[in-house]
Amino acid sequence: MRTLVLSDIHANIVALEAVLTDAGQWDRLWFLGDLVGYGPNPNECVERLRELGAAPALSGNHDWAVLRKLDTEEFNDDARRAVRWTRQQMNDDNLAYLDSLPPLHVAAPYTLAHASPRHPVWEYILDLPTAQENFDYFDTPTCLVGHSHIPALFMLDEAGLNFYLLEDGETVDLSQGRMIANPGSVGQPRDGDPRASYAIIDDEAHTWTLHRVAYDIAATQRRMRAHNLPSRLVERLEFGM
Ligand code: ZN
Repeated sequence: MRTLVLSDIHANIVALEAVLTDAGQWDRLWFLGDLVGYGPNPNECVERLRELGAAPALSGNHDWAVLRKLDTEEFNDDARRAVRWTRQQMNDDNLAYLDSLPPLHVAAPYTLAHASPRHPVWEYILDLPTAQENFDYFDTPTCLVGHSHIPALFMLDEAGLNFYLLEDGETVDLSQGRMIANPGSVGQPRDGDPRASYAIIDDEAHTWTLHRVAYDIAATQRRMRAHNLPSRLVERLEFGM
């Protein structure tokens, strides 16, 4: 069985379609949150994910902000503007779907959290101490997270805790230890590689493979400019930062 793992689509339908084409056949789809915010196609992305039958699908901090479940005080000006614009665009049905998504779900042997198992909506796991602490907050062997937009993997085994930045095509054996794995971001990568990022779990081989795929960044940027979304958000897509 192949599980396609996506996170942080951020209303970038062009990137999402490129990922779906690149991923080929899969048996189930898991989504780790932040379906909207930043990008130009929030309704289209919600509808596409629903049509694909993503389950479980999680909500993230940007989804919560659009739903007014989270104060945008913590957001920078550009993100706040994008949240406000997104809220105006979205229809009630799609908002209700977003509202139905939890930020954390346990599907043993996996725990799925948008940000971290300790603070599922907002904590960034970007360093070893934060990762180390979070291993105490889930019981399954593996925890899948998004939120940082970085395809990172934290592995805890007898030798200790290690951090890996996975590249396109790299495969990790999930039975080597306890893991916190991040598939990176479909719609707004931040590791310096602007290509959309996603992961595939091979359930028989028990492996996690990271994939990157180029998409038509200029097409997403044109749509963002047409909606007057903040230029910094438009420009960062081509740098993957
Ligand atoms: Zn995000």
